[in-house]
Amino acid sequence: MNTERSEQLFKHAQQILPGGVNSPVRAFKGVGGTPVFINRAAGAHMFDVDGNDYIDYVGSWGPMIVGHGHPRVVEAVNRAVANGTSYGAPTESEVELAQMVVSAVPSIEMVRFVNSGTEATMSALRLARGYTQRDKIIKFEGCYHGHGDMLLVQAGSGVTTLGLPDSPGVPKEAVGHTLVAEFNNLDSVKQLFDAFRSDIAAVIVEPVGGNMGVVPPANGFLQGLREITAANDALLIFDEVMTGFRVAYGGAQAVFNVNPDITCLGKVIGGGFPVGAYGGRKEIMDMVAPVGPVYQAGTLSGNPVAMAAGIETLKILREPGAYDALEQKSASLAQGLKDGAAAAGVPVFQTRVGSMSCMFFTEKQVSDFKSAKTSDALSYGKFFHEMLARGVYLAPSQFEAAFMSLAHDDADIEHTIESATAALKEL
Ligand SMILES: *Cc1c(COP(=O)(O)O)cnc(C)c1O
Repeated sequence: MNTERSEQLFKHAQQILPGGVNSPVRAFKGVGGTPVFINRAAGAHMFDVDGNDYIDYVGSWGPMIVGHGHPRVVEAVNRAVANGTSYGAPTESEVELAQMVVSAVPSIEMVRFVNSGTEATMSALRLARGYTQRDKIIKFEGCYHGHGDMLLVQAGSGVTTLGLPDSPGVPKEAVGHTLVAEFNNLDSVKQLFDAFRSDIAAVIVEPVGGNMGVVPPANGFLQGLREITAANDALLIFDEVMTGFRVAYGGAQAVFNVNPDITCLGKVIGGGFPVGAYGGRKEIMDMVAPVGPVYQAGTLSGNPVAMAAGIETLKILREPGAYDALEQKSASLAQGLKDGAAAAGVPVFQTRVGSMSCMFFTEKQVSDFKSAKTSDALSYGKFFHEMLARGVYLAPSQFEAAFMSLAHDDADIEHTIESATAALKEL
């Protein structure tokens, strides 16, 4: 595989962009080697600057669920662009996408658009604190909610210890109100409520863990969080930035039948443009300015081009059969990978919720961050490069999801399975 042009670009990029990238995981640190530079994508395929063709399972980290450059999305975007790209004033497209979100997501009665998932979670937590007039929040080890200061926290040594900053530049005080519990462990949450009961504003969780690899919620976990938060007058926040419109049109809350108080969205709702959102019951959302006192604003929020991409993407997704197709494609890929791993004698633990899936290189059952960490990241790195060389672009880290899109066809999936079966034998 010739990657000469990518290598040249990466050298140049590293001189003028930190690490040569604008988001760390793109630099391939988790797998070693040089990232490939992409200059075009269509359907399920991406093409790099050296002309290599890859079947893409990153999908821009989730948004490209209908495939790259879907003709209907492109047309909608072109139409919007022709009318000017930003006004900083209300538009009909914001109302249309808001109505689609409210109709789709069971617990959302009102929604506010922002520009990223990070902004959505930061705003949701401010709102939860404003609404409850409490300061502390609980997050889970291994869950990622963007790079807001208060969320960049390491677990302390015991569950009832306050977290420590996970990055230089985050003051101790910024995470001083952040408590860390263990995913799929309700007792760890109860202990925190026992210790800090009337100080806890909210519990924020990825209803399906998607940033430690894919870790589905155990039976009763989300329901348990709903009960514990309700009993303590704290809010439950589902960070559905990844799962929203991904695991089902109504998100993970529709799949697991648990209604949070606030939901964060991103990724798919922007159809490949920078969009985030947070929403919930009207009574809570009425706390947000200009109706209420909780301040939150954005120059480009609700951008008309981004709204057009989101609207068209959701229109494609709500057509009958879309999620069945995603499920069927994703299931057949998972089965093929399972057979490939068995044939190669490589122990793996697979997880999947709809079109997000993960193959952990471990023989342990993965149910939380600690068990995810038992994966052999070196083996994954080798597997990743074997796959890349065979024209399959997986996430450059063991601790990420593989995303299926509507554009992946039988030939793509077959090629992926054949490649994986061969790659696994090389380990
Ligand atoms: C990607 C992601 C975020 C952050 O979204 P950005 O748009 O990258 O800021 C937050 N939460 C979850 C669950 C995510 O997967």
